[in-house]
Amino acid sequence: MSEPAVKQIVLASRPKGLPTHENFRLQDVPMPELPQGGLLLRVLYLSLDPYMRGRMDDRKSYAKPASIGGVMPGESVSEVIASDQAGYAVGDIVLAHSGWRTHAASAGAALCKLDPAAAPITTGLGVLGMPGFTAYAGLNLIGKPKPGETVVVAAASGPVGSLVGQLAKLSGARAVGIAGGSEKCRAVVEEFRFDAAVDHRASDFAEKLAAACPNGIDVYFENVGGAVWQAVLPLLNPFARVPVCGLIAQYNATGPAPGPNLLPATMREVLSKSLTLRGYINYEFAAEHFAAFLRTVGAAVADGRIRYREDVTDGFENAPAAFIGMLEGRNFGKALVRVAPSGS
Ligand code: NDP
Repeated sequence: MSEPAVKQIVLASRPKGLPTHENFRLQDVPMPELPQGGLLLRVLYLSLDPYMRGRMDDRKSYAKPASIGGVMPGESVSEVIASDQAGYAVGDIVLAHSGWRTHAASAGAALCKLDPAAAPITTGLGVLGMPGFTAYAGLNLIGKPKPGETVVVAAASGPVGSLVGQLAKLSGARAVGIAGGSEKCRAVVEEFRFDAAVDHRASDFAEKLAAACPNGIDVYFENVGGAVWQAVLPLLNPFARVPVCGLIAQYNATGPAPGPNLLPATMREVLSKSLTLRGYINYEFAAEHFAAFLRTVGAAVADGRIRYREDVTDGFENAPAAFIGMLEGRNFGKALVRVAPSGS
């Protein structure tokens, strides 16, 4: 039997602005050895997430940057192909921090077994994984929407935003999504059942957002920053809560953002309207709340109260293109790369 082709993608250079293909390098590597007491994994699906853009920069943040020549960091759904660890058998499906690789050796720590009978395995990287938990924690623990309130979320067709709006609806609030383009806006309303969706690329975006929020905004779930924040700020009601989850509009910034400096206006509104802005990284809440998230959102996905959408790119070597596309808004749902067919 011929050896499988084993590949990895490393950070070749640090991007200036939006990453380009030159920032990544595809490498053929030998099959890793089965570590003593560990596992060998074959990656089935690689997750592409906005936070990876931050890891490509060499700057102080909540996590260490990727090193030049180092494998791009990332989570995957993988299949166990060899095991020297009790509790894991060949064929088991696990969530792993494998990085951008087709095969990985694992010491077996920080793995999570998935039950393919409980939910499609890809959901472990999306609606029932880190992005889903991020939505659940930020909305419920910081946003705390009440029935009748208005919740607004940007990047509303993605795994975080689409769940924020659906959870807001389930809690009795009104959900307004912000998304790029008419097709995504239509899906936000028709597929994810938000009350309204507004296209942030439209020239009259700020007016349309105001019209979609006639009673102002009580919870703004911040995924974007920049021009979207500028339009949201005057609409916030007294005592509004703003879980600050992501700022994707500025991840590729190479200097100060174009347009007005929003800091004075932001601070004025924070003071005069008694706003709460609270940043967070999902894992702050995981130990205490992940199990409840999985139970409640898992049940709601299973019975159809919560819907999700995935955007699957085929072929490991296409990961850089799919990642760059996600940063530009070309993904439509949770961005995944199918690295290998399961069960082959
Ligand atoms: P998505 O799949 O929604 O992909 C990102 C989306 O952002 C794009 O599809 C695009 O959608 C939108 N976008 C990109 N640039 C802009 C822009 N300039 N203005 C407005 N929208 C833009 O991503 P996720 O759901 O995985 O993540 C959403 C956010 O949550 C990100 O900011 C991410 O960093 C953050 N996050 C934070 C975590 C935490 O622990 N704090 C954990 C996980 C995610 P469109 O076409 O609609 O504009």
